[in-house]
Amino acid sequence: WSSRDFPWTKKLEADNKKVFGNPSFRPNQREVINATMSGCDVFVLMPTGGGKSLTYQLPALICPGITLVISPLVSLIQDQIMHLLQVNIPAAYLSSNMEWTEQQEILRELNSDVCKYKFLYVTPEKVAKSDVLLRHLESLHTRESLARIVIDEAHCVSQWGHDFRPDYQGLGILKQKFPTVPVLALTATATMSVKEDVVQALGLANCIIFRQSFNRPNLRYSVIPKTKKCLEDIDNFIKKFHFDQCGIIYCLSRMDCERVAEKLQEYGHKAAFYHGSMEGAQRANIQKQWSKDEINIICATVAFGMGINKPDVRFVIHHSLPKSIEGYHQECGRAGRDGLPSSCVLYYSYSDYIRVKHMISQGTVDQNSFGSGYGRSNVATSGRILETNVENLLRMAWIVLKCLRSLLCNLIHFGEKFESTNCRKTCDNCSKIQKCIEKDVTEVAKQLVELVKMTGQKFSSAHVLEVYRGSLSQYVKKHRHESLRLHGAGKHLAKGEASRVLRHLVTEDILVEDVKKSDLYGSVSSVLKVNESKAYNLFSGAQTMRLRLPSSV
Ligand code: ADP
Repeated sequence: WSSRDFPWTKKLEADNKKVFGNPSFRPNQREVINATMSGCDVFVLMPTGGGKSLTYQLPALICPGITLVISPLVSLIQDQIMHLLQVNIPAAYLSSNMEWTEQQEILRELNSDVCKYKFLYVTPEKVAKSDVLLRHLESLHTRESLARIVIDEAHCVSQWGHDFRPDYQGLGILKQKFPTVPVLALTATATMSVKEDVVQALGLANCIIFRQSFNRPNLRYSVIPKTKKCLEDIDNFIKKFHFDQCGIIYCLSRMDCERVAEKLQEYGHKAAFYHGSMEGAQRANIQKQWSKDEINIICATVAFGMGINKPDVRFVIHHSLPKSIEGYHQECGRAGRDGLPSSCVLYYSYSDYIRVKHMISQGTVDQNSFGSGYGRSNVATSGRILETNVENLLRMAWIVLKCLRSLLCNLIHFGEKFESTNCRKTCDNCSKIQKCIEKDVTEVAKQLVELVKMTGQKFSSAHVLEVYRGSLSQYVKKHRHESLRLHGAGKHLAKGEASRVLRHLVTEDILVEDVKKSDLYGSVSSVLKVNESKAYNLFSGAQTMRLRLPSSV
């Protein structure tokens, strides 16, 4: 598909330069365009910032007729239309919140013999709920004026994805009604199973698939334990590496956003907060100030993200554990779109993990607090997937000390193989890796499991660790845990080692965090339980446990 001998090649290259001002094509853009213009159905997996829009905007310019684009958010659509109008390409959108007369006017224009629009953008709800729209599309099709159907953020079709939207599933109707119109499905996030799900639901029988490496060489990844000094650390980090530059700090809750923004203002940064419970106008105002660089730092929930097209975001900091590894990758992807070096820093704490797990189990995963960018996720079907995702993140954050870049690539996106030797120390773990030692920790693991049982499976991980290290606190004494055989058995271990082993036991499902309901203030507590069937392997000798530990631990 990379050939330069297609009948449209000359015009393609000229318009790319003249209309869009691009000196050349980015990886896979030419290939995708050639395939879709040849009439094939195409599925494109391209990282955020890779330039997906051009792959349908250029064909739309060159081919006669209208391109129908299905996109999940009105704000995203408005942003796209604004860009198209700036380069004099007429485009319109239809959404249910528009005045009926306005909708009528657009539909009338679609009916006209020489329709001026090159693009019609709609939300998936509109396709699912509007017979009027379908009738107009049929009429366009009969007049051979429906050039192409584009499904943006196509992973929303799949229940296995992290942003499932029921209305996307109904989009299969488009291929049924218009089997000869080429479909172009675009996403920046899809695992193998998501891709198969999407292709099937949309009815793309023989589609051509393009995917490219998701490695972003200009991003530097770090994973840092979160302490009470986290905000001071963030302040120091920004002042040292990104002073007066633009960045996003993702927080778990609305309250966190406000608190973090306030603190950063005190430290002298131009920071603001952004979350789902703010008025629309207030949010738009913040976005505007941010795009004009009047505000450098936005402290936000994941409500801030989709459609953010700022190329010079120099850092993305996760103040708390993200909801999934895919989400994490996408959020980090907002940094360094211009290709210049940028930082991605993840602060983790065990208590955040418990909070996240609790939110998932309670189904409070919504766009405004934490989770899907598009609305309430289907928790019943995706709860387990999210949990697995969070556990994968934990593996990444705490345990393995492997190359973060290769972990990210391998865990998502078709299990892309990325060799850690290619990282060239651009993630924290690779920078530290020489200072790591690999150690057999089976005995420590067994002792910790035993200790959980000895204490009656009623205590938190923090307490179990205290007893293991030999604490004589009042709480330990109150429960007479100082008299247990394993009290103080982990005294000799380096700081942090026992907790790493314990966390590894949790991610291996040998120990299970039983999350208790939150109190009035939303705090969450948990107790450790033993998963007997998994623990059996450890005690029978069938399983040993080796961990890579920083030598300073
Ligand atoms: P995506 O939808 O994949 O996240 P976009 O289509 O929004 O990415 O493109 C990201 C940025 O890259 C935009 O600012 C766009 O103008 C720019 N871009 C796209 N293609 C090219 C190209 N061939 N050369 C230079 N810049 C490009």
